[in-house]
Amino acid sequence: MITSESGPRRLYLMQVATMIVGPLTLPVPCYLIQTRDGKNILIDSGFPLNFQPLPNTPGLQRIEHGKGVIEQLAMIGVRPSDIDILICTHYDDDHAGNHGAFSNARFVVQRLHHEVASAGHPRFALTRSQWDQPVSRYQFVDGDTQLLPGLDLIETSGHVPGHQAVLVHLPQTGPVLLAIDAVAVQTHFAADRSVGPMDADGAGAIASTRKLLDLAERMHPSLIIFGHDGPQWSALKQLPDFFD
Ligand SMILES: [Zn+2]
Repeated sequence: MITSESGPRRLYLMQVATMIVGPLTLPVPCYLIQTRDGKNILIDSGFPLNFQPLPNTPGLQRIEHGKGVIEQLAMIGVRPSDIDILICTHYDDDHAGNHGAFSNARFVVQRLHHEVASAGHPRFALTRSQWDQPVSRYQFVDGDTQLLPGLDLIETSGHVPGHQAVLVHLPQTGPVLLAIDAVAVQTHFAADRSVGPMDADGAGAIASTRKLLDLAERMHPSLIIFGHDGPQWSALKQLPDFFD
């Protein structure tokens, strides 16, 4: 039980786009946490506006853009300038759009990830105009970090270097693990999982999956949300509804 005055109070889920990959339709989610002391913490921010993929992206046929993150936040009365913190799980194009719109936000990212991207890794070049913000606006974290009471960042490299998942402790629901792309679909949540074409380091992806399996064993999350799991996503309540 979290008794802190500053801990998470609500978790909103929003789908901002759909990726068509072969026979699969994959949701592109963002998350908003509201804290007891009135802070708005966004986790990821969807595609950049009107983004279209490069033709050689493995398996991806097309992107259907839905209501964007700013439009969806407006549905619950949250303006871009109301976002206090933007947790950047990683800078892939389906996670790192619209950074410039969040004028008051502190960007929280794994230092390793930001360094790899800043050094010119081609995978993150497409979104550079989004995430390449003044360094003073960043809070760089190194490994597993408690961002505030009831909100933990879990370093899960493998999909990309310095990927981070998020563990949120809600007052009623209990612990919710947002696996993000450390485990994109439920069938990958196994110690002997296969790796996907977008996992930069297969052994790392498996190690991070085992780390999250171990965490789940210890923390018994009420809910584990996978990064792009269509069937799971369609059964979850979404903004304006919320988990509390
Ligand atoms: Zn993704």
